[in-house]
This record gives sequence, C-alpha cells and structure tokens, in this order.
Amino acid sequence: MSTASARAHLDPHDPAGVDALLSEEELAVRQTVRDFCVDRILPHIADWYEAGELPGARELARELGKIGLLGMHLRGYGCAGMSAVDYGLACLELEAADSGLRSLVSVQGSLAMFAIWRWGSESHKTEWLPRMAAGEAIGCFGLTEPDSGSDPASMRTSARRDGPDWVLSGRKMWITNGTISDVAVVWARADDGIRGFVVPTSTAGFSAPEIKHKGSLRASVTAELVLDEVRLPQDAAFPEVRGLRGPLSCLNEARYGILWGALGAARTCYETALSYAQSRTQFGSPIGAFQLTQEKLANMAVELGKGQLVALHFGRLKDQGKLAPEHVSFGKLNNVREALEICRSARTVLGGNGISYEFPVMRHMANLESVLTYEGTTEMHTLVLGQALTGHAAFR
Ligand SMILES: Cc1cc2nc3c(=O)[nH]c(=O)nc-3n(C[C@H](O)[C@H](O)[C@H](O)COP(=O)(O)OP(=O)(O)OC[C@H]3O[C@@H](n4cnc5c(N)ncnc54)[C@H](O)[C@@H]3O)c2cc1C
Repeated sequence: MSTASARAHLDPHDPAGVDALLSEEELAVRQTVRDFCVDRILPHIADWYEAGELPGARELARELGKIGLLGMHLRGYGCAGMSAVDYGLACLELEAADSGLRSLVSVQGSLAMFAIWRWGSESHKTEWLPRMAAGEAIGCFGLTEPDSGSDPASMRTSARRDGPDWVLSGRKMWITNGTISDVAVVWARADDGIRGFVVPTSTAGFSAPEIKHKGSLRASVTAELVLDEVRLPQDAAFPEVRGLRGPLSCLNEARYGILWGALGAARTCYETALSYAQSRTQFGSPIGAFQLTQEKLANMAVELGKGQLVALHFGRLKDQGKLAPEHVSFGKLNNVREALEICRSARTVLGGNGISYEFPVMRHMANLESVLTYEGTTEMHTLVLGQALTGHAAFR
C-alpha cells in the first residue's frame, strides 16, 4: 500500500475519531435512535419549542418504550438491559434533537425508574417498572423544593405517620414530566431521615400545576408538585434507604446520561455552524475561509471530540463497575460547560440567523442553560471535585 493511500484523514463530523472505538452493536443502537429522531422529532421540534409544549407526550413515551429507550440500562422487569455506553449514545442522539426529549427519557429511566429499581420493594417494581419501560406509565422525581435546591438536606416536605399510613405535605419545584406523570417518586423528611415514596399521581391531595413562561427547555413539561396531606399506605415508602444516599444515587445515574447528552446539543450546533460557514459569503469569501471563523470551528471540534472521549471512557468504566460519583461530576462539569460554549460560539458564526428558530442553535443554547443548572449546578460539581482533590469540603 502506498504511503499516500494509507494516510488517515480527520473526519470533520467525527473530529476525534471516536466512531472507531465503538462496536458494530453500539453503532447500530446509535443509528436506531438517530433515525427515530429524524423521523419523529426533527420535523416538529422547532414548532413545539416555540409554542412551549410537548404535544402527544404520552404517545411519544410509548414510541420511546417500543424502541427500548426507557430504563434501557436497567435489567429485568421489562427493561432492555443495555450497557452504559449504549445508554450514553442514546442520550447523545436524543439531545442532538432536543434537550427536552433527552430530559423526558432521563427522568423516566434514570430518576423515576432507577429509584424504584434500586430502592423499591418487589411490589413497587412489579407494579411500575414493566409499564414504565413500555412507556405506558410516566414517572417523575421530586427532590427540589422552592427553598431547597443545591442543598436538598434542607428540604421541608414532610412524611408523618398516622396509624399505619403515611401523610405527605409540602411542595416540590421544577419537576420534569410532572403534569404527565402517573407516578411520582417523592423524597420527604420523616422521623428516621429523608425517605423516598412511590406516589400514584391520582392520590387525593396530589396536584402538579405546570410551570410556564420558561426561556429554556420549552419542549419539556415542568411542574410544581403540591402535596396537600397526601395519604399513602405504609408500603408506599422505599423499605430500606434513609438519607440523601437514596436520591443522590439516582441523580448520579441521570448525570451520567447528561454528560453524554449535552454533547448532542453541541454536535448539532457545531454541524450547523460548519455548514453555515461554508455557504455564507461575506467580503467575497465564505466566512469559513476567515481565520477567526476557523478558530471558532477548530475550538468547537476539539472540545466536542474531547468531550466524546471523556464520555466514552467514563461509559466503559461504568460498564466495568469502576465509575466513581466524582468521575460523573468531572464529566458533567466539563461536558455541559464546553457544550454550552460550543453552542454560544456557533451562535456567533450564524450572525443574525443565530438567534432565529429557523436554525436549531439558539434553542440548543437556551436548553443547555437548564442543563448547566439541573442535576447539580456547575458550582456544585466544582465543589465535589474540589473536595475530591483536597479533602476539604467547601460547601458551607
Ligand atoms: C428545567 C428544569 C428541570 C428540572 N427538573 C427537576 C426534576 O425533575 N426533579 C428535581 O427534583 N429537580 C429538578 N430541577 C431542579 C434543579 O435540580 C435545581 O434547579 C438545581 O438543583 C439548583 O437548585 P436551585 O435552582 O434551587 O438553585 P440554588 O441551589 O438556589 O442555587 C443558586 C445558585 O447558587 C449557587 N450555589 C448554591 N450553593 C452554593 C455554594 N455552597 N457554593 C457556591 N455556589 C452555590 C448555585 O450553584 C447556583 O449558581 C430542574 C430544574 C430545571 C431548571
């Protein structure tokens, strides 16, 4: 073979050459999700976003269930039992369409289903997981409150005993899937510490008013949960887990998906900017021929590729049972921060068109502002890493 024909080339659509590290099966999973998004989401998402709605969310959930994306990394109870890398690749493709879609899947699979799968009783699992995996039932996860966000230990929602029953009172805030859920996993303060409860949303005293007027994640349902003396049977509580270990274990799962997912939003913005830079002409040249534009595109490609390598490495570690929560903080901190930077930079490449919903860039950029905040803010993950590096907790 001649030297010339053997020379490898950088693929602008895979700048770090990550595809070569994926198996045939992994590439097939990715393609399935990509095709689903092309057929089912991309033709409508800009309109849904502008209207601030996710129409037909229940039907959409059933379709996502049909292709095995709900709780896909869990085993048993109708879940697909796929690898962490498969799950990550799916999150990336979903978020390349819209962070709202990925949020629906993350909250369903990694927060609500994982909580029940990991901490629920056998009857919680058999009652809810098969239906949730099929998208026949939708779940949400209530941890955040109006006065308790980054510091969930300060939560006020209470669970008190009344005879054999539990009675839950309080409010949860910013709850994804809240208005469309059949079941809510609610964390509340009981006499013996913070406990998790499986709450059918049809229970008297439960309501979920929608949060409107969002400037981000507009194609995603967000709600308050109002718990007005919600009476539940004794077995509604997760039997064993006490304290923040319960909710934090679930958040760790969801954050893992996000460290992949955010790169999907970044990829779409990078690809949009790359193509725009080749077709848009100013001063007699494509703007991609100017050094300043090339610097932007090169930085986007480098950060996208680095982020993908980090995600894949952490995915492989997770599949080997070697991924620490601090690794997840590392990945979420870096990948969401850099993804947002890629989107912002892509926005400038598109000039005035960058702010138009005719292009996906502004939508992804605004979505990532939520992704930067939920599942642990940038500051919280910085402090987690700071503690891991120095041994000193700087949260207070
Ligand atoms: C669209 C959306 C969907 C969401 N979905 C869900 C959901 O499904 N379920 C759920 O339970 N929650 C959900 N959340 C809530 C989300 O997890 C919280 O918004 C997040 O944890 C931050 O809490 P907060 O908004 O109360 O901000 P705060 O905790 O009040 O923080 C405000 C600012 O102060 C900083 N800060 C706080 N403490 C410190 C400190 N010690 N040192 C330095 N800086 C600090 C924060 O980093 C942040 O920048 C969602 C949020 C959004 C926006």
